[in-house]
Amino acid sequence: MKIIEDKNFKDLTTFRIGGKIKYYAEVKSESEIKEAVRFAKAKNLPIFIVGDGSDFLASDRVYEGLVIKYTDNGLKFEIRDSEVLVTAGAGLKWDKLVEETVKRNLQGLECLSGVPGTVGAAPIQNVGAYGQEVSDTFYKLEAYDIENEERKVFTKGDCKFGYRDSIFKSKENWQKYLIVSVTFKLDKDGKPNVSYESLKSSVSDGATLQEVREIVLKTRREKLEDPKKIGNAGSFFKNPVINADEKVRIEKEFADAKIFPFGNMYKISAAWLIEKAGWKGKAEDGAAVSPKHALILINKSGQASAEDVYKLSEMVMRDVFWKFGVNLEREVQLINFD
Ligand SMILES: Cc1cc2nc3c(=O)[nH]c(=O)nc-3n(C[C@H](O)[C@H](O)[C@H](O)COP(=O)(O)OP(=O)(O)OC[C@H]3O[C@@H](n4cnc5c(N)ncnc54)[C@H](O)[C@@H]3O)c2cc1C
Repeated sequence: MKIIEDKNFKDLTTFRIGGKIKYYAEVKSESEIKEAVRFAKAKNLPIFIVGDGSDFLASDRVYEGLVIKYTDNGLKFEIRDSEVLVTAGAGLKWDKLVEETVKRNLQGLECLSGVPGTVGAAPIQNVGAYGQEVSDTFYKLEAYDIENEERKVFTKGDCKFGYRDSIFKSKENWQKYLIVSVTFKLDKDGKPNVSYESLKSSVSDGATLQEVREIVLKTRREKLEDPKKIGNAGSFFKNPVINADEKVRIEKEFADAKIFPFGNMYKISAAWLIEKAGWKGKAEDGAAVSPKHALILINKSGQASAEDVYKLSEMVMRDVFWKFGVNLEREVQLINFD
């Protein structure tokens, strides 16, 4: 294990933003994790675990701690009657996992094609897209407990998955567990399960998993910003959850409001709120609201600071609240801010 002292968050995030990192280490085994953790403990430094940096905004200031990236990317299939348990190393690219499972005709992850990032990060916010979520097929994960320096297994129930949420995002568990592998239970020779309305219309009857994957990849290319071309972290905000009274109040004023059922509550489209408030495509210093998709904030100039993006997000949140009385919540995590 090598400790590197000249890394920047800018080099590790899809926003291509973020300040210097005091210490950075890549690890690929339990003994290397132990070594890195002991290094941080000896110096009394905080630890931040990074995957592909596609879901957070790091501040511009120096991170006075150790950033660890786990790189093991093994993949294992265990056949059990009609199901298959698939275990992937946390460092594997998420889309590689989807590609390999679809190739073997295993059903359960096909709608999550093209989501950036690593397997290890996927349970953190219960990654979801086009009607599928990690929690639908999640079986268990193995993590390294940083405080107690031991391995721990988390079942689905332990993870307390929610909408873009899990126990790993709670204050008590934040950066406490380094996930080393995740196991999914997938259907052997399963048929695609397409529940998402806009996807249904482009998927023909009898479509294969591979065809669904290709449609999802094509739709994502058309609708989303490509981080290889322009810095971004996907959806910056969550879709707010509102109650029936709020739904009635908003629909009275805005007949075109995009609201859909969510359990016994409703979700209102954050993209609709932001676009309706007039923010789509608007730039502020180096940052902007994507002209392609109002939910995405972009590093428009390529030189935007974290402060530029943060300021823009605050302006959007304030304005949406003022115009609709709805609180937007960030989906993207703020790292090394006050
Ligand atoms: C263009 C674009 C499109 C996107 N589309 C979607 C989408 O459709 N649906 C969706 O849900 N998300 C989407 N995202 C967000 C992002 O891809 C996911 O949240 C992804 O899981 C983040 O993976 P990562 O490896 O980049 O994690 P990072 O951004 O590096 O880290 C995210 C969090 O996970 C933690 N973490 C990372 N690895 C580990 C580990 N091994 N152990 C413990 N903690 C860890 C980090 O500490 C951090 O808290 C999109 C992002 C982009 C840029």
